[in-house]
Amino acid sequence: MRKNIVAGNWKMNKTLTEGVELAKKLTTILTENKPNCDVVIGTPYIHLSEVAKTVDTSVIGVSAQNCADKVSGAYTGEISAAMVKSTGANYVILGHSERRAYYGETDAILKEKVNLALNNDLTPIFCIGEVLEEREAGKHFEVVTTQITDGLFHLSAEEFSKVVLAYEPVWAIGTGKTASPEQAQEIHAYIRKTVNDKYGSEVADNTSILYGGSCKPSNAKELFSNPDVDGGLIGGAALKSEDFHGIITAF
Ligand code: PEP
Repeated sequence: MRKNIVAGNWKMNKTLTEGVELAKKLTTILTENKPNCDVVIGTPYIHLSEVAKTVDTSVIGVSAQNCADKVSGAYTGEISAAMVKSTGANYVILGHSERRAYYGETDAILKEKVNLALNNDLTPIFCIGEVLEEREAGKHFEVVTTQITDGLFHLSAEEFSKVVLAYEPVWAIGTGKTASPEQAQEIHAYIRKTVNDKYGSEVADNTSILYGGSCKPSNAKELFSNPDVDGGLIGGAALKSEDFHGIITAF
């Protein structure tokens, strides 16, 4: 059966000391209150190694927020999937809308990143989602289909089974506007059907599809109670241990 997952995306927040402090707090909380879902924290690159040493990675998975689309070499400022793996991290967020919008990440680039993540035994948390104009024009189904098809459907069924999907409507990210539980269920069911059409029901049923976009303790339960919503990718509310734990306890 597919896993329920609550994954935090710290984005470009917290110094190393603050990040380790948050990881310690979460470890204490989750040791005392065993979660009913998998928990992942996506930290800035420079935190990965320290955070991976701080947490028990079998209780809290550690994720990068990106990796390079090249194996190694003369790519100043880039961090490879192998480097991420060497820190003790076991996940990588790929295709976040901020990377797509501000750093020109195309589906073709993301395809390379997905391949490198899988080759290095990292679980990709692959983000898809439409912007407001696309939602208003009724193009959201088309948009997510293209993102999944061009970014992921080159994978074999075995490879695809290692990927976690995160549906994040861009209009809900950091805006305080959340997709309604009905909107989330509708598109998550559509995404699962798209996976089913390509890889069959066993793969589709086992694919975790997370919702992301202004998820908080007050709305997590309603969102996660939908049959095709298998957890959340959390931005702002992942920065405080109490809020993040409040979302985890929705399961
Ligand atoms: C995100 O950026 O992945 C996200 C979901 O952010 P927020 O929860 O702050 O909307």
